[in-house]
Amino acid sequence: MFSSSSSTRRWLCAALLGLWLGIAQASADIRLGVLAWLGSEEAEVQWQPLVRQLERRLPGHRIVLRDYSLDELSEALQAGEIEFLVTNPGHYIMLEAEHGISRIATQVSATSQDPAHVVGSAVVVRSQRQDLRRLEDLQNSRLAAVADDAFGGYQVIWAELRRRGLDPEQGQPLTTFTGFPMPRVAEAVLKGEADAGVLRACLLERLEREGAMPAGALRVLSPRPDIGHCGVTSALYPGWAFAAARGTDPALSRAVLMALLTLPPDDQGQSWSVPADYHPVHELFRELQIGPYAFLRETGWDSLWRRYWPWGAGLLLVLVVWGIYTLRVEHLVQRRTQELSSALAERHRLEERVQAGQEQMDHLSRLSILGELSGTLAHELNQPLAAIGNYARSLLRRQQADNLSPEALRQAAEEIASESERAAGILGGIRAFARKRSRVREVRDMAGLVEETSGLIRGMLARAPLIELQTTLPAEARQVVVDPLQIQQVLLNLFKNAWDAQQAAGSDAPIEVRLAAADGRCTVAVRDHGPGLTPALQAHLFEAFFTTKPDGLGLGLSICKTIIEAHGGELHATAPADGPGLVLDFSLPLAAPDATRQEPDHA
Ligand code: ADP
Repeated sequence: MFSSSSSTRRWLCAALLGLWLGIAQASADIRLGVLAWLGSEEAEVQWQPLVRQLERRLPGHRIVLRDYSLDELSEALQAGEIEFLVTNPGHYIMLEAEHGISRIATQVSATSQDPAHVVGSAVVVRSQRQDLRRLEDLQNSRLAAVADDAFGGYQVIWAELRRRGLDPEQGQPLTTFTGFPMPRVAEAVLKGEADAGVLRACLLERLEREGAMPAGALRVLSPRPDIGHCGVTSALYPGWAFAAARGTDPALSRAVLMALLTLPPDDQGQSWSVPADYHPVHELFRELQIGPYAFLRETGWDSLWRRYWPWGAGLLLVLVVWGIYTLRVEHLVQRRTQELSSALAERHRLEERVQAGQEQMDHLSRLSILGELSGTLAHELNQPLAAIGNYARSLLRRQQADNLSPEALRQAAEEIASESERAAGILGGIRAFARKRSRVREVRDMAGLVEETSGLIRGMLARAPLIELQTTLPAEARQVVVDPLQIQQVLLNLFKNAWDAQQAAGSDAPIEVRLAAADGRCTVAVRDHGPGLTPALQAHLFEAFFTTKPDGLGLGLSICKTIIEAHGGELHATAPADGPGLVLDFSLPLAAPDATRQEPDHA
């Protein structure tokens, strides 16, 4: 029992110790990723001296070196596999944009201690190619490069070519990519597979030194005269960057930086300096529209849609909603317009029917007045006819008695003619009054209408009342826009009612007609001296078929009211202030001063 528990304890202690060592080991490891631009083995050879030096400067830490390609380095950062990395300037700014890495030091070379001018590219051609002297000469040639995303291995020269009006993307020159390691590019040029190749500055010289390349077989195209240590075709850019991943402990970064800055140059003469300004690299990428600036070349609808699709979709939605709304509004407007026009047509039809009914009523009313007056009318016509008969018989008698002087014949003939004219006049007035016709609007003198109507009633009634027109209005204040026949009809009704009322009251006073004008209107007041109205009568006065007369129709005043209202006026009945009787008054709009005398309007 005891032995088993002590062995268990021993086992537990060993496990805990192992775990602690593991943690300590893990925490002491510094994982450093490097870009293997010359391949894995070269990377080991190139960076192992740095690893050893750092481990000496950072006691207690083990530097774990891992080499990657361009894409792998990005993936390693994504997976959190490394705390630090070393890569070329172009790759650095891409990873800075994508993964938020920050540079802590820039590599300088033995020949260039300025960290901002370290990396450059050389375009190499076979030495015997005399036709290739300048970058411009590469226009129709074949160019080999290691990869399209290699900074010193391609992008730097790509920019140089563009600045000289050449565009490798358009096949000027025709570019092929050999893949890493970079010496493959030199081999392609040497074998004649390409006319020119892009190498990192100083790589040609190094390959020649190491014997990997026959000396003098290749030469650098248009080397810059201001850079003496190697043949360099391009401008110089900042050196490689030593950068910390986003999650790296700042204290560790500081410790590594301190170590880097104090390192002596390696056997290649390379050392580390304070971080350089990578702005020229940004400018180069912007110029080429690659890396973080790749979006600049995305001007097609596809890429715009990919970038702005939420806005585009929103806009599209708004347009669709707006389109549907517009269509719906259009549809509603069309439907309402149809409804409105059919309602208007219906209303027009009804108005026509009402007007036709009104005209029929007017006509019937006039006939009714004539019917009411027919007894006295017969008497009125009888008079001239009897007179004509008398004159004719008297002529016959005188002629038989041989007593017919020419003077007596002339007198009798004149009387016969005048009496027949009188009868014809009475019948003419009645026919005109009774005829059926459409309504019109004319400018007429109100006093004239009153006179004409009193003439008409005088012709119709044996004992016609005296109609007294009282007015001091000048002629222009009496011009009204009316249907003259309808106003005559109104006046005739009022005169006839006044006469009936005065007959009932036994009054033979004249019927008074007063004209007045105010506010652009002419007022006509017809006053009689009859019994007037009781309040009960007044309440029903204008109702259709209301009558107190045994032979009355009760339509007269209701039609008068309709006619006056159709003329834009009102008909009122009031008791006179100065004695018995009744006043019926109405007003009509005065004609404009320049209105023509005749203004037909079938409104
Ligand atoms: P009608 O003359 O056929 O009766 P109206 O509509 O012209 O029809 O008149 C309606 C009624 O109003 C008359 O029956 C009468 O009682 C009354 N009336 C109209 N005018 C007068 C008036 N001037 N004085 C008194 N009563 C009147």
